[in-house]
Amino acid sequence: LTVLGVETSCDETAAAVVRLSGDGIVTVLSSVVGLQTERHAPFGGVVPEIAARAHVETIDAVVAEAMDRAGTGWEGLSGVAATAGPGLIGGVMVGLSFGKAVALARGLPLVAVNHLEGHAVSARLAARIEYPFLLLLVSGGHCQLLRVDGIGACTRLGSTIDDAAGEAFDKIAKSMGLPYPGGPALERLAAGGSPEGFDLPRALLGRPGCDFSFSGLKTAAARLAAETPEARRADLAAAVQAAIARQLAERTRRAMLACAADLPPGGRRFVVAGGVAANGAVRRALQDLAAELGWSFDAPPLAYCTDNAAMIALAGAERLALGLTDPLSAEARPRWPLDPAAAAARPTHT
Ligand code: ATP
Ligand code: MG
Ligand code: FE
Repeated sequence: LTVLGVETSCDETAAAVVRLSGDGIVTVLSSVVGLQTERHAPFGGVVPEIAARAHVETIDAVVAEAMDRAGTGWEGLSGVAATAGPGLIGGVMVGLSFGKAVALARGLPLVAVNHLEGHAVSARLAARIEYPFLLLLVSGGHCQLLRVDGIGACTRLGSTIDDAAGEAFDKIAKSMGLPYPGGPALERLAAGGSPEGFDLPRALLGRPGCDFSFSGLKTAAARLAAETPEARRADLAAAVQAAIARQLAERTRRAMLACAADLPPGGRRFVVAGGVAANGAVRRALQDLAAELGWSFDAPPLAYCTDNAAMIALAGAERLALGLTDPLSAEARPRWPLDPAAAAARPTHT
């Protein structure tokens, strides 16, 4: 199966062509990501209207380049997958409409992909990872631990009760005067610092369950940012990064311990995905934890941590392989939880 994926849920206009063979081998034939960073930077964050307009202006060229590089021709495609949510609704509508137009014009099946399912399968773009696996999804809008039993079969073990991990990185970076996007900027600053000597809160430490909380850390970091001399800013950045990594690992430890009983020793697989998975300190903390508890560890290559269309194409291909397609009337959804139970019980909460 060869699938064109389209992703426009935030501020990346992305298209990719991915092949999924019958024996489960994944090949990324092309992956093009058009960044809008310069358009949003003056505002210190993503402006939805600017994002939607930029998607409209660039999607044609981005898809054309992805098709060009893939070299399959339209006739080589088995389907088209487009992100249908969750995300900024104006942008989602642009990519989904584009996907529908391609499906109609080329007579291809459409797959309306949940962006989070894309993140969930993203590590499978580069490594063979069997289901089930324990997933830590840490992105700009989400921070969740999920047991992933397959496509469309997720159970949520915990999620943030306030900010997402990426959101915490971004907001703290902003309070430290760093440019948007804050996560990567904070990591660069932290590289020259050492994390000792700051008193940062350790939210939910020792509490049962697998939820997360970053609002206390955000408040403390903002206060410290105001009183920390220039010479110690890198140290503060390193301390903040270490605190986020530590909480992610502590809560993941609880999830691993809770899940281990259901899984044979050889079936204890852990995956971290989403933009924050690009962070070196976060990756290391989770890798160490996995090694300590005897779990395998996988994270997507850096290019597939943040938003991209290769992960959408792969989620689409996996759905197509199961015969799961969507009608051209599929709707764009601003909110769309990944786990069906939460979708039914809490329709307004992603
Ligand atoms: P969602 O997937 O929840 O809808 P999103 O698509 O905006 O949100 P992603 O593209 O997966 O999120 O990730 C972007 C987030 O990842 C931003 O918050 C960004 O700051 C963070 N991020 C990216 N790189 C790093 C890094 N190296 N260190 C820390 N955070 C990072
Ligand atoms: Mg983005
Ligand atoms: Fe994302």
